[in-house]
Amino acid sequence: MPRFQTTAVHAGRDDFNRLCVHAPPIDLSTTYPIPDLDTGSASFDALIAGEPSAANPIYARLHNPTVARTESAIAALEGTQACVAYASGMAALAAVLMARSRHGRHVLVVRPLYGTSDHLLGSGLCGVEAEFITDAGQVAARLRPDTALVVIETPSNPTLDLIDIRATVEAAGAVPVLVDSTFATPVLQRPAELGATYVWHSATKFLGGHGDVIAGVVCCDQAHAAELRTLRATTGALLHPLAAYLLHRGLPTLTLRVEAAQANARELASRLAAHPAVSRMFYPGLPGARGGHLVGTQMSGPGSLMSFDLRGGHDAAARAMARVKVMTAAVSLGATDTLIQHPAGLTHRMVPEAARAAAGITPGLLRLSVGIEHVEDLWEDLAQALAD
Ligand SMILES: *Cc1c(COP(=O)(O)O)cnc(C)c1O
Repeated sequence: MPRFQTTAVHAGRDDFNRLCVHAPPIDLSTTYPIPDLDTGSASFDALIAGEPSAANPIYARLHNPTVARTESAIAALEGTQACVAYASGMAALAAVLMARSRHGRHVLVVRPLYGTSDHLLGSGLCGVEAEFITDAGQVAARLRPDTALVVIETPSNPTLDLIDIRATVEAAGAVPVLVDSTFATPVLQRPAELGATYVWHSATKFLGGHGDVIAGVVCCDQAHAAELRTLRATTGALLHPLAAYLLHRGLPTLTLRVEAAQANARELASRLAAHPAVSRMFYPGLPGARGGHLVGTQMSGPGSLMSFDLRGGHDAAARAMARVKVMTAAVSLGATDTLIQHPAGLTHRMVPEAARAAAGITPGLLRLSVGIEHVEDLWEDLAQALAD
């Protein structure tokens, strides 16, 4: 077995010599010529049943070779049999919820999590009813006969709590666990190896890695993937092949990007922790972080996302966002450049206020997605943005 970094470079590319290409071919066909009706009908049946491929792709809502290539590459990185790609991370979550709604109505969700995930889960859409808890230790006690899914996000957004995936899987018993692993990437954490049924990513973030593609993926075994593919062929939340190409293009540098950003983040976090304007730090790499003991075991490193609370509250946070010059004040994360944003005012606006407060999303909280710039330029920028 090649090592992770080699897989990241080569996955989804093993037929290149045979095809005599050195970059993935892009297939933009919406329909495919059918050689004979029997082959066409058999292929249609196979794809509607959720097979990963068939003799003929038939129609691009059923199968696209460029998307399938990217999916196989991401599955190799997560160590799963399959991966199913979607038009966005949210489309991917909606698909899993719809698939699970056939197995039961109740979904157990550990807060905090990405604001729009919280909103979708709480909305009652997709045929499921979410019950929110704030302590993963309560999962076993809250299971019901109709519990169809347990949802966790680790590291969580925006407070970077780490949740023990293996312990959650054990507590959930026969109920599948979905892990939003967007902040970790398969470089730092591989939830399927710890028993998670679904590994979910907003591939818009680190996997794409360059801020130019919206995409979502779910990595799982073939049986769960077949259910998702059938649903995708029916609901049409497809990843476009050009987006799939860009996503695949981000993977060879994934390890380098994640490690470089993490090295910068470790340094910035320890300097911010000592800064007089900062009252509280949220970073798994600092002593006292919630779930911090999982760094080095579940997660090979603390990653490159952090949040920090400013003593000056909302106004100080707004001022810092307005002052940054190297960093960009913007939502999203996991690109090559550093982004700074205000969870209470932006990404977590749709989370009910009481839940926000309970999760530690205060008016002075800023979240930093550290990029791969030179760390001293980032520090100088932060220091001037936080000055009195
Ligand atoms: C961005 C994000 C999502 C949603 O993904 P989209 O690609 O924006 O639809 C879900 N979870 C986390 C942790 C995210 O950062």
